[in-house]
Amino acid sequence: MKIGFIGLGNMGGPMAANLAKAGHDVVGFDMANVAIDGVTLADSGAAAASGADVVITMLPNGQILRAVAAEIIPAMAQGAALVDCSTVDVDSARAVAEDAATAGLLSVDAPVSGGVGGAEGGTLTFMAGGSADAFAKAAPLFDIMGQKAVHCGDAGAGQSAKICNNMILGVTMIATCEAFALADKLGLDRQKMFDVVSTSSGYSWTMNAYCPAPGVGPQSPSDNDYKPGFASELMLKDLRLSQQAAGSVNADTPMGEMARDLYTQFVENEDGLGMDFSAMLPRFEKRDRS
Ligand code: NAD
Repeated sequence: MKIGFIGLGNMGGPMAANLAKAGHDVVGFDMANVAIDGVTLADSGAAAASGADVVITMLPNGQILRAVAAEIIPAMAQGAALVDCSTVDVDSARAVAEDAATAGLLSVDAPVSGGVGGAEGGTLTFMAGGSADAFAKAAPLFDIMGQKAVHCGDAGAGQSAKICNNMILGVTMIATCEAFALADKLGLDRQKMFDVVSTSSGYSWTMNAYCPAPGVGPQSPSDNDYKPGFASELMLKDLRLSQQAAGSVNADTPMGEMARDLYTQFVENEDGLGMDFSAMLPRFEKRDRS
């Protein structure tokens, strides 16, 4: 397949490299000066998209996605598929899908879970929104870049799933961190806390697989001075998207709202910027009940 790949950053770079390694003809474009193994670089997004069977975008946000889509959709061949893997707001995903359909293109919003490690290892999970035909066209590429792809529904359903998943993730991380900080103050050994909770009803991915306490549980960013991993500002981005989505459909999400507010404070007024999102634990340790 001829693939255009736009946005060759931390995630997009290794995803594009994996497609090239699998034998696809990948033409990439990024605003920054990048070099990706096996990927031919084009001078513009439109040049990368022109003549491609599938164009994949992996960009920072919905505003940039909309601008890039406006440039590349007119350059794409009829029947080609536009697959956006960025995490963006549901409205942008649906707007781009509509523009693609008007131009006679297939489209899928297909955000990912699994982080940079998953992108490099080809083990991402894709959550996809779009028609059955569009999903079928993208599925062989999802198989190369990831280990699982779930067709969640129509346009926007992939972003909806991503936003809900990450709202749970943010809320659960905060709950896990505040429980560890409470356990510390109660004099409970952290290893004992892990041994109990990881096999009791308080277990979760944040406790069992990504434990925020250094030296406890499997290796995680807490064992590396809280270097990301998944940076707090990216968690904040996703929590903001969840609250924007909740506002648009009048959904009551008080825990998501509180998680957004705590990560806002952590990133903007405390020392969370550039730290892994599990660094909420040392943050809670520094604080007393007010
Ligand atoms: P990144 O900043 O490393 O990469 C984004 C790339 O897009 C950059 O290289 C940038 O130069 C390029 N870019 C920006 N505007 C452009 C334009 N107009 N035309 C062409 N290129 C442009 O970010 P990332 O970590 O690769 O994340 C990409 C997306 O994936 C985001 O939406 C993010 O929320 C999502 N995501 C990231 C992770 C993660 O762990 N990093 C995990 C899951 C999802």
